[in-house]
Amino acid sequence: MLIVKQTSLYLSGRLSETVFRNGVRCMATKGVNRDFLKKSNRGLALKLIATKQCASRIELSKAMGLTKPAISAIVNELMEKGYLVETHKQMTSDPGPNPICLEIGPGAPKFAGLLLQRGYAESTVCDMNMRILRYERVEKRWKNGEELMQTAYRLLDHMMEMEENVRAIGVSSIGQVDVNKGRILTPLYFNGIENVDVTAPIAARYGLPVFFDHDNQSAALVEQLFGNGRGYQDILMIGIGHGVGCGIVMGGQRYHSHTGFPPEIGHVSIDVRGNQCRCGNIGCLETYIMSPVIEEKVRAAMGRPMDYREICQRENSPAINAIMEEMILDLSGAVVSLLNILNCEIVLLGLDSIYWPDRYVQLLEDIINERKFSNRGRRSLVSKAGVLDQTQILGAACNAVSRCFEGELPGDEW
Ligand SMILES: [Zn+2]
Repeated sequence: MLIVKQTSLYLSGRLSETVFRNGVRCMATKGVNRDFLKKSNRGLALKLIATKQCASRIELSKAMGLTKPAISAIVNELMEKGYLVETHKQMTSDPGPNPICLEIGPGAPKFAGLLLQRGYAESTVCDMNMRILRYERVEKRWKNGEELMQTAYRLLDHMMEMEENVRAIGVSSIGQVDVNKGRILTPLYFNGIENVDVTAPIAARYGLPVFFDHDNQSAALVEQLFGNGRGYQDILMIGIGHGVGCGIVMGGQRYHSHTGFPPEIGHVSIDVRGNQCRCGNIGCLETYIMSPVIEEKVRAAMGRPMDYREICQRENSPAINAIMEEMILDLSGAVVSLLNILNCEIVLLGLDSIYWPDRYVQLLEDIINERKFSNRGRRSLVSKAGVLDQTQILGAACNAVSRCFEGELPGDEW
């Protein structure tokens, strides 16, 4: 079992310790040494610059609670490596010389991302700012796990050919997954494909560390760092597509069970006497609101097929509007239940729900705030994902980028 231990220095200056076992955050059981502390501070400095929370040495000093000489030592080392560069002088009203702005440099590590979905796979190479340098997509209805992985290799081969400085690979997949084992388990509606090992064969093929997670968990992570989740510590990410999934960030950390299984909102029952779900449960949310169900309802009502995007553009149709409002009411049932347990500050919508007219986003927000019981004094917000249709693939890459921010960059003698 891979055990990686590290420290994280938070903005309050308080030191806390985190241990990862096969990629899952666990309670620390032992102390930390200076090497971990050094790596954590460098990772945190890169995170604060990449996510635009800090732009200069003085801002890093304030945010990290370290002295100016300590920050200068960190920045100088990162500049020598080409990870950071100085840009222009920051105009401030403070007395003294204007601070020089810092940015992620062109010599900073690059990261590959791989997204495995039911009808397609995507790959990317991005920098530490999550700027996409290369992107490729293959649409296919997978016959078996072998075909899925052969396509994954082909996509990643193309990414590696283009960029030599790829230092880690982030992968995300539809669930169910076992994050600890890096394996796709038994997703529904997946042509019977199950138990596909992902992490180990990709790591062996490319000789790089591979960080794997559920697609919506990955989307929640990139939204927290770079998207509309910035500034929030408790986030519920919901992806509506051919299934309904979720990602959860609690207290600023992505939620993980110790056993490696991510949360599954799609199989929360909203009616214990309702639809029989293929998972075995009754009344599962996704049997009411996943995209194919809505598309079928619209086809029956309108007499012709429409895809989800077109449906969202036809909100002025009374029949379509009624179907969509019923869908939002069904969704609200599960979201209210989760908010009563988790008290999330914001709900982010991904996958097909990025096409919703803003009116539906507002409707969901109004219903959940009217009906939630816990923390009624604070309004829970609802918003679309900040990076919209790139959220899923950038989420995959972010599984690797975020490890760099946590001080974990294998092969780097920093
Ligand atoms: Zn179910």
